[in-house]
Amino acid sequence: MKINPYYQNLETSYLFSTIAHKVNAYQKAHPDAPLIRLGIGDVTLPLVPVVVDALRQAAAEQGVKETFRGYGDEQGYDFLRQAIQGYYAGRGVALAMEEIFISDGAKSDLGNILDLFAQENTVLIPDPVYPVYVDTNIMANRKVVFADATEENGFLPLPDPAVKADLIYICSPNNPTGAAYDRAGLQKWVDYARDNGAVILYDAAYECFITDANLPRSIFELEGAKECAIEFCSFSKMAGFTGTRCGYTVVPTALADGMLQKMWRRRQTTKFNGVPYIVQRAAEAVFTEQGQKEIHASLAYYQQNAKILSDTLTALGIWYTGGQNSPYLWLKCPDGMESWTFFDYLLEKAHLVGTPGAGFGRNGVNFFRLTAFGDQEKTLEAAARLKQLL
Ligand SMILES: *Cc1c(COP(=O)(O)O)cnc(C)c1O
Repeated sequence: MKINPYYQNLETSYLFSTIAHKVNAYQKAHPDAPLIRLGIGDVTLPLVPVVVDALRQAAAEQGVKETFRGYGDEQGYDFLRQAIQGYYAGRGVALAMEEIFISDGAKSDLGNILDLFAQENTVLIPDPVYPVYVDTNIMANRKVVFADATEENGFLPLPDPAVKADLIYICSPNNPTGAAYDRAGLQKWVDYARDNGAVILYDAAYECFITDANLPRSIFELEGAKECAIEFCSFSKMAGFTGTRCGYTVVPTALADGMLQKMWRRRQTTKFNGVPYIVQRAAEAVFTEQGQKEIHASLAYYQQNAKILSDTLTALGIWYTGGQNSPYLWLKCPDGMESWTFFDYLLEKAHLVGTPGAGFGRNGVNFFRLTAFGDQEKTLEAAARLKQLL
């Protein structure tokens, strides 16, 4: 046998293991240091009550002969796809049922979608970035070019007509930078993709954090996007499903004359057998009136944390993106410090743990990510320590 040689081209990610190692060593030397973690990329609030009720009820149905369900439709149950259709209709985006595919999360679909594209495609990925986009393409030996996200462009790069790409990744609101495209900026990418016959892979995992009504929450709000984009979304950050697992992908009929939608259906029916019935019932509950009320209370809690942190950075005169339409804040390390130096400084002087920007790409070397997914009292305490130190 011959192994896939391209796995050897993957860079080992030392980011989270190095953070854990440094924090453990510090804790061992200073057992009484009251550490606060602002580096968590996972939600911390539990599933909301309507979701838990839906899980319980669906589990009970699975224990009764008359209501038991075995294999479902690989594309997802109609009840959930209809609920998603209604969610999009609420912001003026009309989706056909066959355009919506239920999955076990956005990460799997972001990786699996590459089955549909030839190896010869050139892939354009912003830097800094969520590492999944780069690594899944390295595994397939695709050529990757980077779009520089910098302080100058507010970490929202625009297309460069001199760069030719076939697949384009956009994540908005962004992980790690928290920056979100406005309509005009995103329209430029849509126009570029249409002019070049490229496909945009649009990661909307954080759309529910958008509070500014002028910002697009779906790429399909833009003119012509159905002809050039696939959208990935997830219940993970929206409703705390990181451990429950559910997401969805929208593959428009207008994209490549329906070819990609047809291929994705074929791919899923061949390699995927659907998301558990009980999980799809739980996801359906998110879109009920009560579900929306309950998840918005959880989202508001994280948004308050983000506001506490952004008010602090503003008061300190520190440059940052995110925090307003995102659970992430991306700040410029003070005094030209590099991100790992700033990590050690915050850990030692304020007992705060964040994420060095260098771990997300070369443009992150002087930047630092804080997250709003923590406990509110601890976030307030962290803000007080930042004010004292910086
Ligand atoms: C958390 C996150 C997702 C969601 O992934 P799931 O597999 O649905 O949990 C997708 N994209 C980005 C950028 C994320 O940070």
